[in-house]
Amino acid sequence: MTPLLALEGVEKRFPVAGKGMFSPARSLAAVGGVSLSIAPGRALGLVGESGCGKSTLARIATHFMDPSAGSVRIDGRVLKDAAPHDRRALRRSVQMVFQNPASALDSRMTIGDQIVEAVALAREGARADRIAERDRLLTLVGLSPTLADRFPHQISGGQKQRVVIARALAARPRLLVCDEPLSALDVSVQAQILSLLEKLRKELGLAYLFISHQLPSVRYLCDEIAVMYAGRIVEYGPTAEIFKAPRHPYTRVLLSAALDPRRSRREETAIGEPPDPTALPSGCPFHPRCPHAAAACQAKRPELRDIDGARKLACSLF
Ligand code: ATP
Repeated sequence: MTPLLALEGVEKRFPVAGKGMFSPARSLAAVGGVSLSIAPGRALGLVGESGCGKSTLARIATHFMDPSAGSVRIDGRVLKDAAPHDRRALRRSVQMVFQNPASALDSRMTIGDQIVEAVALAREGARADRIAERDRLLTLVGLSPTLADRFPHQISGGQKQRVVIARALAARPRLLVCDEPLSALDVSVQAQILSLLEKLRKELGLAYLFISHQLPSVRYLCDEIAVMYAGRIVEYGPTAEIFKAPRHPYTRVLLSAALDPRRSRREETAIGEPPDPTALPSGCPFHPRCPHAAAACQAKRPELRDIDGARKLACSLF
């Protein structure tokens, strides 16, 4: 089956200003060669420490940003090669939900008008049809259409995130890229938004690229997980298998820290801070922090290779 979204060898470099007048211009590799795909109706979780390149990848997947190298395909097609009408349709099929609903919404417009605006952008139609669509979308995300006349400051954080999701759904996407959609919300509200995403998945057959620091949420929603470290995927596989038997030392650190803070077994404790993306270590970029690192790990960066079944791993030790 053709994947709904396929990234192939995606890289993104950002220029970094030199420190002094005579220091050479440098760049950092925020994403260093990532390939991944998402089939219709599937949810892929993207996890990793702050700064590992998750948001950059999300922006590239939604065409908010061009990659420095590599390709992004929707339904097997590269956007720029499609005819203008197809290009718009392909672009609409992937929508983004950002972290902070307060800044994603326009404080001067009612929430109803913001949804109507998104509906109008997506398709032609009479004003009455747009209003009907607004009400359908509000209901779909669990809000009463009577809230349409409210301004963002008159509703709660969880309601705002529902509006943001309704607005994204106005384009009738088949994939939602959610970049930390829960982290600006109260803990009690997070579970409600998560079950809304699951409900939409069942009802609409939506696929997700779901970025989150909260591994229990990823475990709940996602079929597969990609673990990112320093701009690359280091482990990939079905969620249940990764949680049951993580193979990469970094995945083990991530899971043990997130799921059971009391566990502090020596082999599952990474040392130090994430690497400076302008000066990545030689070989495996995780080796300076890896409790298992051997001499070979400094010499050669392990490629992401197929291991059992649908799993992939970039580690030469395990
Ligand atoms: P977080 O969880 O904190 O959002 P992240 O994993 O999403 O982190 P990115 O935001 O993608 O990571 O950033 C990856 C790297 O690229 C970081 O070192 C960041 O400082 C750098 N970066 C991101 N955007 C830019 C930019 N526009 N210009 C320069 N550097 C950038």
